[in-house]
Amino acid sequence: MKFLVIKKKAIYIFLAILLAVLCAVSFMVVSTSSPKPMYTIVIDAGHGGIDNGSIGYSGTLESEINLWYAKTLQQYCTEFGFFVTMTRSNDNGLYSPFAKNKKKDDMKQRQKIIENTSPDIVISIHMNSFPESSSRGAQVFYAKDSEAGKLLADSIQDQFVKNLVKPRQSSEVGDYYIVNCTTAPSVIVECGFVSNPEEEQLLLQEDYKDKVCYSVVCGILKYLMIN
Ligand SMILES: [Zn+2]
Repeated sequence: MKFLVIKKKAIYIFLAILLAVLCAVSFMVVSTSSPKPMYTIVIDAGHGGIDNGSIGYSGTLESEINLWYAKTLQQYCTEFGFFVTMTRSNDNGLYSPFAKNKKKDDMKQRQKIIENTSPDIVISIHMNSFPESSSRGAQVFYAKDSEAGKLLADSIQDQFVKNLVKPRQSSEVGDYYIVNCTTAPSVIVECGFVSNPEEEQLLLQEDYKDKVCYSVVCGILKYLMIN
């Protein structure tokens, strides 16, 4: 009887040790397989506050639609495991109410956010406009001397060519503050022309907005995988 009790005790001790070892092993596996490297993206919704940006054919305000797209892009990027910083999450501009040149101050604040975040990628969302209402097509712009910026822009533009209605066929160099103010690959995504009545209506559709943002995420992922 005593022998049986000792044997039972020994079995419990053995099981407890086994459990502890298994826990330790599984902890080691978990801690070596995660965390995975995280990429940080700054998503910049262009304009805001007193600066409406372009005004669409039927009165769409670029600043509002930029934010709508930027928030969807934020959601997609977060779902894919990116760490996202937004330059703005509401309709306000980033400038100080006391700034003499609010536009300049606004851009400086965006630059500060980028500098403080040290992102892997910057995506600035805009809607294009042109006096000629027939102009149309989503297009990505990058800084003149940024090789990485061009690769990122091309990768997103390729997705636009595959997925969107009558996009531009290639990305282009653009002399914009947001692409020039950082060494991180930074692009301006002009999602389409709000000055084109047909494209403005497309841009206002939820499905089309999702398609544009999905294309941007696919372009980002492909860029990161290849480079
Ligand atoms: Zn704009």
